Amino acid sequence: MTDTYVVDPRTLKPIGIFGGTFDPIHFGHLRLAEEMAESLALDHVRFIPAGTPPHRSRPRTDAPHRLAMVKIATANNPRFVVDQREVELPHLSYTVDTLHSLRSELGDDQPLCLLLGADAFLGLSSWHEWQALFKLAHITIAHRPGFPQSTWKDAMPDTLRDEIETRMANPEDLATCAAGLIVTRPITALDISATHIRDTLRAGRNPRYLLPDAVLDYIHAHQLYLPETA
Ligand code: ATP
Ligand code: MG
Repeated sequence: MTDTYVVDPRTLKPIGIFGGTFDPIHFGHLRLAEEMAESLALDHVRFIPAGTPPHRSRPRTDAPHRLAMVKIATANNPRFVVDQREVELPHLSYTVDTLHSLRSELGDDQPLCLLLGADAFLGLSSWHEWQALFKLAHITIAHRPGFPQSTWKDAMPDTLRDEIETRMANPEDLATCAAGLIVTRPITALDISATHIRDTLRAGRNPRYLLPDAVLDYIHAHQLYLPETA
């Protein structure tokens, strides 16, 4: 008789994948990562700053600065990891391609949780090959002020609503399979956005207490988001 060795997928703790422009990173991002790591029992969270498009459709701080600010903000948290694969590409990366790249490194059994704020989730059905995302990762949604869950059903297309109805699960289910579930979580409501921080700096005002002091020091040292001169 031969022994059968069955790998228990529950021994693999899910990894959080957190993409964004992080222009700049702020406490809304950091609390999302911290609270989702805690409530979803994530092994770690990978922050993946988006690259800079070669032909810019809109102003965006150069990727090396955004990456440096993410590194500074996450440096003292051992559960936060910075992943610079998108920044190193000469073109913008679709999330589906980034997840393929992570899968090929981490293997087919590793549960991956794509972390999204509610606003990002509501736009999901416009993403490149969005339905393929469910084959590659779980989708985990954090609440965000301005996007209350009571309004999600009205704000999303039918295709996305159908996915939610069939895939909705509980946090403890995330470790039992590698991809395909949807979990939503309330987090501390922080009405902070990078847009507001950029506007505040450009208006010559101080955005302190919305983002880590060390990130603000970096912004001043590198003269980012300077006030427009009249
Ligand atoms: P911008 O104003 O430039 O769009 P942002 O503050 O929305 O910046 P992003 O880099 O666009 O930050 O967001 C990255 C991810 O973090 C997205 O999934 C977004 O939904 C989420 N997020 C950002 N800020 C918050 C917040 N205050 N609460 C919950 N989720 C957030
Ligand atoms: Mg945003």
